[in-house]
Amino acid sequence: MGRTARCFVCGSKAVAYVPYLGDYLCREHFVEYFERRVLETLKTFRLVEPGDRVAVAVSGGKDSLTTLYLLKRFSGELGIEVIGVAVDEGIAGYREYKLKALADLAERLGVRIFIGRFEDYFGITLDEAVGVLKEKGFEYKPCSVCGVFRRYVMNKLARELGATKLATGHNLDDEVQVFIMNALKAHIEGVVREGIASATGGEGLVPRIKPLYFVTEKEVLTYTLLKGIQTPFVECPYIVYALRHPVRHWVNEVEDEAPGFKYRVLAVKELARKALPEPPGGVQKCVVCGEPSSKPVCKACLFRAYLDPEFAAKLGGLKLISRLRDEGV
Ligand code: SF4
Repeated sequence: MGRTARCFVCGSKAVAYVPYLGDYLCREHFVEYFERRVLETLKTFRLVEPGDRVAVAVSGGKDSLTTLYLLKRFSGELGIEVIGVAVDEGIAGYREYKLKALADLAERLGVRIFIGRFEDYFGITLDEAVGVLKEKGFEYKPCSVCGVFRRYVMNKLARELGATKLATGHNLDDEVQVFIMNALKAHIEGVVREGIASATGGEGLVPRIKPLYFVTEKEVLTYTLLKGIQTPFVECPYIVYALRHPVRHWVNEVEDEAPGFKYRVLAVKELARKALPEPPGGVQKCVVCGEPSSKPVCKACLFRAYLDPEFAAKLGGLKLISRLRDEGV
């Protein structure tokens, strides 16, 4: 940003360039723009209804903290109740710092937070699971296991707390990255499913919403700095194994070269979602744990069996697991 940049609304010193507006905004007008954009997203797409109990999936990172902050701020106007649900995967040197940031903000906002631990749900921490994955030669990446376990815990915890919506902190950058990753893997179902809200939920599934869908990662960062929403700059040690890591860098590089690239990709994504047929739906209960699943055995139980021979034995042994996996379960 140039030294002389001025807010296009009032002429005061600008704090941020907003690609969506194609102009600069000062502190006051950036905050107003950002909050209005999120509130309008919630209202326009009817992400919440009066009487909803909204569980915000909070990791302690800037996106989820901002989602918690804003939903709490708008809760009176929208007629909703807000709680927080967090997952402790058991990642030493990372998760404890993020949970501390979450506890601090939750106390400031007066929001109750509920934490589900991998160890309690699956009998293993992510650090321990990574040890097993290493022994097995990384057939699965840490993020694959973590993502499946996290979604499982979040949904179960939110449902047991009586939540009617589960809000996540996915921003525009996340959506663009996931779209590109799905496209690279030719995962058409993923393209269709990843929208601003999950279609209807399903038996045992708490409907998911993404209030930050139309704001960029940079805008979220600016907002957190202006509002004093603090989180330590620690990164998960397993991020280096994730495909998202290089995709994120590539997307940012292209955005620098061709401003507006992210918005254009999001637009293509929405057009593709409209043009593609709905994937076959249908939620059933996992025959092992009873949680919602698209297949007879849910992915969390399959990963658990992969990581824990005793659990696999209970499921009928690795042979059965392999067969189910080969069948794409
Ligand atoms: Fe889990 Fe991967 Fe995120 Fe780390 S980077 S918290 S392993 S999904």
